[in-house]
Amino acid sequence: MPLIDGESTGSYVTRLAIRHGESVGHLLATVGEGKTAAEIDPRLSELYLNAAARQRLAALAGRSLAQLTRALVSLREEHLLPGRPETAEYQWPWRPPSGYLVRGCALCAARRGVFETVWLIRPDPWHICVRHGRFHDTSRDDRVPFLDLSPGPHVVQAEQRRIQLVKRLGPVGRLLVADAFAVLAHPDSFLPRLGTNRTTPLRLLPTAIHIAHRMAQLERFRLDSRLVHSDYPHWLEKARGDLGWRVGRALEWWSALHKPLQLPPLPRSRVARVPVKDYRRPASPHRSPVSEMAPLHALSCLQWDILARDWRHPYG
Ligand SMILES: [Zn+2]
Repeated sequence: MPLIDGESTGSYVTRLAIRHGESVGHLLATVGEGKTAAEIDPRLSELYLNAAARQRLAALAGRSLAQLTRALVSLREEHLLPGRPETAEYQWPWRPPSGYLVRGCALCAARRGVFETVWLIRPDPWHICVRHGRFHDTSRDDRVPFLDLSPGPHVVQAEQRRIQLVKRLGPVGRLLVADAFAVLAHPDSFLPRLGTNRTTPLRLLPTAIHIAHRMAQLERFRLDSRLVHSDYPHWLEKARGDLGWRVGRALEWWSALHKPLQLPPLPRSRVARVPVKDYRRPASPHRSPVSEMAPLHALSCLQWDILARDWRHPYG
């Protein structure tokens, strides 16, 4: 059965059960023992397995463990249920402990021969398909399953630039995107916070990604330990030039937290052999490792509110 990148385990197992012509409960009984009811809606809850149950699921699906964990994020080590290795177990918590169930792109699924609704597990409550220019979120309303982004190609371009940044900088890229959204959430920016309504991420994304790329210019040198205090005013001046003084003020807060890294003094003769620091590995004020399902508001080092007060509401 086709695998879809980023699909939730609950969604995949539901499709697998349909394909086998049986109920999810019946299928799960062959995967392991459950602490929760076997039949739960994959739009509401994610399914978690321990290592033994994962092995059985792979056998049932006729897939290697590597194929399964490449596509299904919740089956990776970080998200496996603890427990006795000899007993195969599964669990459907009422809400995923981390991540959001976001509707998958129906056109991407159809390309793989899947015509049922697919639910992805994502760190944030929305997802943009850059191939088809569609915006999806956690809304379960089947009447508006996606928003068409063809009237706003700049949003799709921004998402492409976000993906490039994360590909290039790894976890550091994700942290910078989170910090950039946080900069836009500063009261001085006078912009709606994430969660104000369904389309706020679309409105903020192009500027946020522009800011994240600006931040990356500084951060790469900083993590490479090639930055000194006197480099900051010049960078801030340039950033203020194209982003305006309102954003500039929040960037001052950000740069104050992203101080030059302190390096232990080294004898002169060894300086040339100092290995270049990996600029993909986060350093203070951020922490490593960066959880795969951590949302933007949990990743930023900036302390003010990133989310609107009743932010769960717009996603239904
Ligand atoms: Zn698509």
